[in-house]
Amino acid sequence: MTASVPEYVVGLDVGGTAMKGGLVTREGRVTALDGRPTGRENGPEAVVDAVRAYAGELADLGSSLFGGPPVAVGLAVPGIVTSTTAMYSANIGWRQVPAAAFVPPGLPARLGHDVRTGGLAESVFGAGKDVDDFLFLPIGTGIAGAVVLRGEPYGGANGWGGEIGHAAVWPAGEKCACGQIGCLETYASASAIGRRYETRTGRAATAKDVVGLAASGDPAAQEVFGEAVEALAISLASYVLTMDPSLIVIGGGLSEAGPALFDPLRERLAARLTFRDPPPLCPAALGVQAGMLGAALLGWQAVGAHDVGRDWSLDVLRGGEVP
Ligand SMILES: [Zn+2]
Repeated sequence: MTASVPEYVVGLDVGGTAMKGGLVTREGRVTALDGRPTGRENGPEAVVDAVRAYAGELADLGSSLFGGPPVAVGLAVPGIVTSTTAMYSANIGWRQVPAAAFVPPGLPARLGHDVRTGGLAESVFGAGKDVDDFLFLPIGTGIAGAVVLRGEPYGGANGWGGEIGHAAVWPAGEKCACGQIGCLETYASASAIGRRYETRTGRAATAKDVVGLAASGDPAAQEVFGEAVEALAISLASYVLTMDPSLIVIGGGLSEAGPALFDPLRERLAARLTFRDPPPLCPAALGVQAGMLGAALLGWQAVGAHDVGRDWSLDVLRGGEVP
């Protein structure tokens, strides 16, 4: 490779049902691709094959765009994961898949946990870039957090760290899909808000609908959304008291509710904390691309480039082309 050929990595965000890929240069120029299905209905081995095929296509696209192969591939994957092995995913069903199985032969690869990889991107050049310690909490179909300590997502002793969605808020409350009682996720995930409204009224609704209905005075919507906000305030108060973060970054679909979520949540969190101020709450900066962009950072880490991304500009990222 000559000096005139831009260096780039492949970033791949592998979700339960779909994967998103992109090419990201050392300078932060992003070429984001449309997502595609993981095909998990075909079994875990087929998913690994599909990921490897997609990584190969992205590498080929990069070769034609940039005139050479990628330097590495970074992948965000669900479940329990180390930088070299996807240990287990209940969602996809794989066990002990080495990083090399996800990429064409010869390419360096590094893995990361999906939510923590999004947290890494928010930490390096997103909403958390000016602080060392924060919580990244995407709220979508489920709720999981990335605990960021000194700029690094922390997964705990066994990789289970950050499962805030399954810490109970009402111990005598409703049963969660995980089998426990009263989990935050049961009340405050976007799908829970829609489901709880439908249970109460018989009318199907998305979380976005419920937020709109609550604003227009629908009593059932106000009750369901109010309980979701209270559940989040209980969880965040515990987190703040335990970890003393500089910031709480909320992402995922529910964060798109904007002030309708953030204003009452700030108020309820402050009301629960009697002897200290709450940290600021802010929306995530990177949206649905956080996982792919964090995966690209993992790609750079795979070749020892740990400082890449610190000077990336959000304007460049938002301007990413879709070929
Ligand atoms: Zn649960």
